[in-house]
Amino acid sequence: MSRPSRDELQRWLDELDPQPAGDILRWAAERFPGKVTFATGFGLEGCVLIDLIARGSLPIDLFTLDTGLLFPETYDLWRRLEARYGLTVRGVRPEQTVDEQARAEGPELWGTDPDRCCELRKTRPLLGVLPAFDAWISAIRRDQTSDRADAPVVGWDGRFGLVKVNPLVRWTFDQVRAYVRDHDVPFNPLHDRGYPSVGCTPCTTAVAPGEDPRAGRWRGREKKECGLHIRLQGQQ
Ligand code: SF4
Repeated sequence: MSRPSRDELQRWLDELDPQPAGDILRWAAERFPGKVTFATGFGLEGCVLIDLIARGSLPIDLFTLDTGLLFPETYDLWRRLEARYGLTVRGVRPEQTVDEQARAEGPELWGTDPDRCCELRKTRPLLGVLPAFDAWISAIRRDQTSDRADAPVVGWDGRFGLVKVNPLVRWTFDQVRAYVRDHDVPFNPLHDRGYPSVGCTPCTTAVAPGEDPRAGRWRGREKKECGLHIRLQGQQ
């Protein structure tokens, strides 16, 4: 879709900023009928959004980037969420299996070139999906990383060319945890075993008490994002 004008984006921001997450999701479903999707990685925040989408019977497409390298606990959570809420989360897979990638790029690409591995197994599959939509939902929160610190509740995603809606952007981790507890939302048991942020098995380790919650992602490297939620400079 074409980029909304600056005035329109500002109107959306003014309207949505004070609203609760469920209302923001409803706005997205009504503003972009049949053209809004939620890419979930099944983090705690993603589970909250799935609960809110199901609770509101909102016509929002759901998918996950199935790299083929997720934890067994994550695959199990995927099935549990579908059963609990009676919905389908589509699995979007890379062009190559893990073995095919190893033959083409060398073994364990995540160890030698994780950016390339994320590009092949996450970014490119995402690029194959998003052109069918006018807006996508993300589960990011401002206090997760410095790059997310000033993320707006709604904005133009210039990288992928569609509107991006972040219903939980103002939520704290404690709010997320309380919602999950109060609404009995299924979640990944790894969160209770020292994994506040869960990604692919080769690139996720447990964190020690007091460590940054994302310290276990690509441990020992500068990399802290797979690249899907990095904003271009000056992007609203
Ligand atoms: Fe590859 Fe690791 Fe990125 Fe997963 S998180 S796609 S294994 S580099």
